[in-house]
Amino acid sequence: MTPPPSSRRRSGGVPARPRARKLGAVRRSQLVTTYGVGAMIAIDNESFIVAGIDSWNIDDAPEIFERRLAKVLRVKSFRLPPAPDPDRGVDGVRVRRFPEFYSCPECRVLQPFSAFNCLPGRANCPSCQEDLVPSRFVLACDDGHIEDFPYWKWVHRGSEQSRGLCGGTLTLRTEGNTASLRSVVVRCTCGVPDVSMEGAFRVKSLRELGIRCEGRRPWLSGAKPQPCTRHPRAMQRGSSSAWHPVMRSALSIPPWGEGVRGLVEREKLIGAPEDAIRWHFEKRPGLLKRADTTIEEVIHFAREMSEDTPTPGESVDAPVDPHTLLRKEEYESLCRGNPEQRTSEWQPFVCEKPEGDLTPVHALGLAEIMLAKRLREVRALEGFTRGVAPLESEPEQRLAELHLSHDVDWLPAIEVKGEGVFVRLDEDRLREWETNPAVIEQVEQMRLNHLALIRERTPSNPKTSGPKSPVSPRFVLLHTLAHILINEWSLDGGYPASALRERLYAGDTMAGILVYTATSDSAGSLGGIVAQGDPERLAATLRSALARAAWCSNDPLCMESGASGADSVNLAACHACVLLPETSCELNNSFLDRTLLVGAPSGAVPGYFQQIAAVN
Ligand SMILES: [Zn+2]
Ligand SMILES: [Zn+2]
Ligand SMILES: [Zn+2]
Ligand SMILES: [Zn+2]
Ligand SMILES: [Zn+2]
Repeated sequence: MTPPPSSRRRSGGVPARPRARKLGAVRRSQLVTTYGVGAMIAIDNESFIVAGIDSWNIDDAPEIFERRLAKVLRVKSFRLPPAPDPDRGVDGVRVRRFPEFYSCPECRVLQPFSAFNCLPGRANCPSCQEDLVPSRFVLACDDGHIEDFPYWKWVHRGSEQSRGLCGGTLTLRTEGNTASLRSVVVRCTCGVPDVSMEGAFRVKSLRELGIRCEGRRPWLSGAKPQPCTRHPRAMQRGSSSAWHPVMRSALSIPPWGEGVRGLVEREKLIGAPEDAIRWHFEKRPGLLKRADTTIEEVIHFAREMSEDTPTPGESVDAPVDPHTLLRKEEYESLCRGNPEQRTSEWQPFVCEKPEGDLTPVHALGLAEIMLAKRLREVRALEGFTRGVAPLESEPEQRLAELHLSHDVDWLPAIEVKGEGVFVRLDEDRLREWETNPAVIEQVEQMRLNHLALIRERTPSNPKTSGPKSPVSPRFVLLHTLAHILINEWSLDGGYPASALRERLYAGDTMAGILVYTATSDSAGSLGGIVAQGDPERLAATLRSALARAAWCSNDPLCMESGASGADSVNLAACHACVLLPETSCELNNSFLDRTLLVGAPSGAVPGYFQQIAAVN
């Protein structure tokens, strides 16, 4: 990551060349998932915010294609974040200084970095020679706005004067060795009483001082403040609530990315005139052969692909949520299968039925197993939020933008490859179970809690017909099933749970889960997970997983908890039983309930797999 050149970090002065700096080992994928646009990153004793993608140098940012996802996110393509170049000490990802406020641990002065007048490329107090410390506290709202903590207003207790008019200098000291906010004291030399940081994390105390969100977006160069009515909250610079990525992903499924279509897309020939296509391949004769196609085919598909399909969800009479549509298409591909016909370069998706007899799994309530022997997933960063973590199915109006430019037609993304096992439940049996009033009743409170959370977090929008929650017995059942399978494979098969991921296919016409390995570094693929999909083996795994799910070391507390867990959107689920590492779960470890698998001990709620669990 490249901090701004030191010339821009001082006020005035001659432009200096960017200094090579040790930036730590930030991996490409982390620039999407952990240190994406708008996230703060500590470099040496300074702090920066990752700048908008319109400022990135994308010369070394390979373009990747995922046509279905690109249409939904309304971009042309995706790019891997530019790779760091340790030789030059720079890379294509830009950062900007944030927060502005720094303090000196020696003289305690607390002021904007520029006011210290540090030597170029240095960040120490010119009077004391001590390394400066970036402000520990920042102010952010749920819409993603972020600004410096308003120390001046805080110590002057809502005084009407504008900043600095008292003529004093601010200092920040920590009294005693305690880590409590009470020991962090702000003082102004103008003589107002000292004020500790105690209470700064309460929204109410900020409101009482008239502190509002100023609508600032310091990650975007030249961004004007936006009007904002949210109540800002103070947070620690390094806290996890300071940045939540909002990721969207899609599996590459046929026909996209395969053979001639993959070639047309990658060579950017969609809609290209025939002459241009012929000329393009005259210079690259080997390509056609490698993709096993002909120039006539390319010309045909270049035209067809330019004419096809409007943005998903827009063309149909009853608009379908485009993200649901993405999953539906994947579900159909997973059910249908796609035998291996080409090399992985020209066929990203290979999915086949297992060889053995399915009777053992049919008896358990599974209708089908499919072995996804080759998978490619593109995960893109659509935007981000701060404060409370975003929930599934929340309206997207909260997303903070990644750039200001109208010319940017891509999003940062990572491409992961792997393999997995897809399981589909028996639709008839599922319908019978999910219409049982006791089952509906069991999940209803979770659904209501979820709706309440969505309402609380999103300002009412008269255009939308009220929030929707995906929570249903089927949804929670499939989700919990995915968790116990991942747990079982990691306990029994030796896969680290964090290397396995779930992908849920729950809806009126979907009842499946995909558990897969997917890593962004090609060497990291574990392999062998498809072997777990052998029907006999999977039946044994499921029996064992259900036996484990029947009991938790926190029982009876865990089993009896009503809508417990983070934000009350879990039932019988805790860290001792079904919760997973966060990298494995696509729903933030919410919407889980063991009861739906194995039934309530009282017998009041039947579990989908109850009979099997009872036999164990
Ligand atoms: Zn100092
Ligand atoms: Zn003052
Ligand atoms: Zn705001
Ligand atoms: Zn538990
Ligand atoms: Zn999950």
